[in-house]
Amino acid sequence: MNVSQLADQLRRDHMFMKDVTRWEVIPARPARTLPFPASMDARLAPVLEKRGIHALYTHQAHSMEATARGEDVTVVTPTASGKTMCYNLPVLSAILKDPDSRALYLFPTKALSADQVSELYDMIEEMGVDIKTYTYDGDTPAAARKAVRQAGHIVVTNPDMLHSGILPHHTKWVKLFENLKYIVIDEIHTYRGVFGSNLANVLRRLLRLCEFYGSHPQFILCSATIANPKELAETLIGRPVTLVDDNGAPMGERHFVFYNPPVINRQLGIRKGAIPVTRSISGMLLKNGIQAITFARSRLTVEVLTRYLKDMVRDPLGNAGRVRGYRGGYLPGERREIERGLRAGQVDAVVSTNALELGIDIGALDACVMCGYPGTIASAWQQAGRAGRRQGTSIVFFIASSAAIDQYIVNHPDYFLHQSPENALLNPDNLYILLSHFKCAAFELPFEDGDGFGNAPAPEELLGYLSDEGILHHVEGRYHWSAEDFPASEISLRSAAAENFIIIDITDPAHHRVIGEMDRFTAPMLLHENAIYMHEGRQFQVEKLDFDACKAFIRSVDVGYYTDADLNINLSLLDIEKEEPFAKTAKAALGEIKVTALVTMFKKIRFDTHETLGFGHVRLPETDMHTTAMWWTLPPEVAAKIPSDRLKNGMLGIANLLRIVCPLYLMCAPQDIAVVYQVKSPITDQPTIILYDNCPGGIGLSQKAFGMRELLLEKAMQVAEDCPCEYGCPSCVGPVGEVGEDGKRTAIRLLRELTK
Ligand SMILES: [Zn+2]
Repeated sequence: MNVSQLADQLRRDHMFMKDVTRWEVIPARPARTLPFPASMDARLAPVLEKRGIHALYTHQAHSMEATARGEDVTVVTPTASGKTMCYNLPVLSAILKDPDSRALYLFPTKALSADQVSELYDMIEEMGVDIKTYTYDGDTPAAARKAVRQAGHIVVTNPDMLHSGILPHHTKWVKLFENLKYIVIDEIHTYRGVFGSNLANVLRRLLRLCEFYGSHPQFILCSATIANPKELAETLIGRPVTLVDDNGAPMGERHFVFYNPPVINRQLGIRKGAIPVTRSISGMLLKNGIQAITFARSRLTVEVLTRYLKDMVRDPLGNAGRVRGYRGGYLPGERREIERGLRAGQVDAVVSTNALELGIDIGALDACVMCGYPGTIASAWQQAGRAGRRQGTSIVFFIASSAAIDQYIVNHPDYFLHQSPENALLNPDNLYILLSHFKCAAFELPFEDGDGFGNAPAPEELLGYLSDEGILHHVEGRYHWSAEDFPASEISLRSAAAENFIIIDITDPAHHRVIGEMDRFTAPMLLHENAIYMHEGRQFQVEKLDFDACKAFIRSVDVGYYTDADLNINLSLLDIEKEEPFAKTAKAALGEIKVTALVTMFKKIRFDTHETLGFGHVRLPETDMHTTAMWWTLPPEVAAKIPSDRLKNGMLGIANLLRIVCPLYLMCAPQDIAVVYQVKSPITDQPTIILYDNCPGGIGLSQKAFGMRELLLEKAMQVAEDCPCEYGCPSCVGPVGEVGEDGKRTAIRLLRELTK
């Protein structure tokens, strides 16, 4: 059965359709094209024509024209719209005209760079010209590095390698820096938060070195759809950009099905779970031979669903290989094999976290199933974009969980279909991040009195501070590096902590092997001792977690349950920056806090029924983070009138409401912030609700929330008052089981006081 036939069949199935809240059909769209622009080197035309390309899509032609005018360009179009042409054509044209020209390509991950390079190789080979394209990353053999530095016309790398492997060694890269004409950065929407703030500073360092060597490179940037691509690009590179967002690529007909699992307990607002529904829809696609990707929010759900689907096709021929799991933490070789399998049609179903959201080439699939809302509109569109061919019909299922945001989306499909996606925020001037890169920059080239650092504020203050600390040495108007160590090696661009944990399978005593890795913040949750760690649906038990050596030792097991750890969060105050009264006697404040995270116990959960089988204790050290926060302190005389149990339920209700409304009004992903409540807060001594930036140093969300402190409470109250439930449900203050029978009433009462 093909997608169209399946869609017809489902639409006649009343049992299925009664839970569909919207079936949207987006009609096929023809291509819009323009002739090859004059700025394209004539030698490229035959290569393109051989591939059946006789004209460019409008966005490709427009971006080439802007690049030819000397502008920095940002191209914003969906997956599979031929974005790579927007940079490959100008770069190849420039090198064909002047063989000394150089270009630097930055991709967020190695997998992406491998993909893009192979396309570039093919074009160069067909032209039969001498243009050398090299990848320079952690996998580049030492023997090949010299050739890359000296002869590479196009150097393909990632931000981490640029930061620690290229910039600090710029004296070996003179040819690149002297002749750098284009800097290409793809997938810029991934550079948000800490990673983006770091990259903006890496680019400040890069441009500082180009200036020193006398080159003035232009930027060509590409992004998936987000609300503020121009602002993001300009913040990243510190210069104005020309936006090209008129997508001319064709697209086949697409069906979007919004499915809300049926309510099984109306009073408590409990629905059938999203996982069993996803299991049956993905299973139906698999049985009908429709190649599909299933996205799940957590690594654990990915493993659980992979196992269910593998079981469905398990047979003596070993067909379970047609179903694969995919997530961060699988080794690169295994991931490449899965990607190839998808492209070649040997893999029928893949279950993935958002790791496959990025532009990694897996070909276009027929169907996509989203098990729960991925948290932002931008990533939902990216996931949906995995299904959809230029010709032919494709289908996307969105399966809502009972989480409030999922319920909001499934009941307001227009919000998803028509709302502009989120802003990507970053803050290059975050003091922690800025100071780190200032050190790196000073190591690379001495600062002179009066030197700036891109558009960073108050560089002289930072230079003064680093001199006082003995890291720089100020003589005759220059700041020289005087510390022993090499600063870039200590700074990780992607998180505050540098090291990943490696996962070692010790099932076979004669042959220990590394099967994966995991970041430092997640390891305590998933790799604590006695955790069931799942890898491609197979189960392992963690025997030992060596926290200092960053190693987890696991052994293959076969048990009927998985584990889920509890995370405890503690907050302490570092500094108050601002404090303002509101609603007569309540107070709001902005400041710095320390967040301590600790895993203390875990649950064992049975497959299929998802019932809790038992608990276990975890002994692990804490992890710390300093960040910015804002908080609302309730008026003491109001709090005093409410018994403490009821107050606790009401505050939990408000915290749950703020978790729904804050991401929408701050325009960020839910995981970018955290909202907690304290009935007697160590920070204020009063009942307090605290919102903080969920990354070290913060990216400016708490400041934004402080500015909207009254609006956020009003919106929270609106959600609670508009919700038809009586005592609370997962779509507003939280389920009754969590907030108690008085939770909703108390939350509304408190919010009324706070918004008077
Ligand atoms: Zn409700």
